[in-house]
Amino acid sequence: MSNQSLIPATLIPGDGIGPEIVGATIEILDAIQAPFKWDRQLAGMAGVDASGDPLPQSTIESIHKTGLVLKGPLTTPVGKGYRSINVTLRREFGLYANVRPTKTLIKGGRFDNIDIVVVRENLEGFYAAMENHIPVDNDLKAIATCAGYTSRKECRRIVKFAFDYAVQNNRKKVTLVHKANILKELCGLFLEEGRKVAKEYEGKIACEERIVDACSMELVIKPETYDVIVTTNLFGDILSDLTSGLTGGLGLAPGANIGEKAAMFEAVHGSAPDIAGKNCANPIAVLRAATLMLKHVKRDDLAKRIDKAIHKVVVEDKIRTRDLGGNVTTKEITAALKQAVA
Ligand code: ATP
Ligand code: MG
Repeated sequence: MSNQSLIPATLIPGDGIGPEIVGATIEILDAIQAPFKWDRQLAGMAGVDASGDPLPQSTIESIHKTGLVLKGPLTTPVGKGYRSINVTLRREFGLYANVRPTKTLIKGGRFDNIDIVVVRENLEGFYAAMENHIPVDNDLKAIATCAGYTSRKECRRIVKFAFDYAVQNNRKKVTLVHKANILKELCGLFLEEGRKVAKEYEGKIACEERIVDACSMELVIKPETYDVIVTTNLFGDILSDLTSGLTGGLGLAPGANIGEKAAMFEAVHGSAPDIAGKNCANPIAVLRAATLMLKHVKRDDLAKRIDKAIHKVVVEDKIRTRDLGGNVTTKEITAALKQAVA
């Protein structure tokens, strides 16, 4: 492939197990000649170690230029008033939609037919971090507050994103998940806008509504009845971890953060410092993030090849890392995946 046809993309190896699993993913992407020209950048603790900055200017500039990122998990330094780097990145680049697909890979467990996509609003709600702690002399009387907000514009944008996603990916149904019975304003606005958007897709995509507590129960009892879920920030964070747990856990779950001008692909899990450097982390969550990135640049053909290779290695050949009940190393599963995509 000539250099000109390569798509510039920012690569952030990340912290903890990040460099191992991102390295594994790049090996597999190279094996299928994925069309990316990587600009390697630092963030998180790696950024602090190199330049004292968890989000160096050169990393921000690179993302502004490429608008496309593959990212390993980042650790936000504790104390010293650092804000979550992941949250900062989402805000800086307006990555309003967090998309987390989860699908049964290994059958024979409790849930064999799960294929759910959680679309989470990424910028508003209770994660806007408008928090306050009111200390008093008698500490038992101290009060902490958190103000959340939603805007009509953002509610419309995120629900529309979910319906468009459903249309483009041959999905049948979108479920609006909310708590408008109690949070009448905050969630009421989301539900009201959601219903309006749903009308625009009538006849094409079905729409259901669920209160988040009922949804949580149904996701555990009959998850196969769910298709696309769209919800606000806090609920989406929780429900998408729940859905990834239904189908094999964090080692398999990818996520995409999509904005108007940039898109960032990552594993749902964190930097897992407990197993960092031990050659036992599962690289598949990041690898699947790379397949979402390939689909994003309209290379579904390459994404499919990787999905097939994952199926061959993990399901047919039962080559599995420790988190999936196996005993192969990161290097061994990477070698098997490379062979399977070839
Ligand atoms: P962070 O503070 O960066 O969120 P964490 O300690 O919360 O890190 P997570 O990555 O969120 O760790 O995951 C929790 C646990 O799940 C880890 O301790 C690890 O044992 C396991 N885990 C996470 N990702 C993987 C993976 N890719 N392969 C194997 N095990 C994993
Ligand atoms: Mg964590």
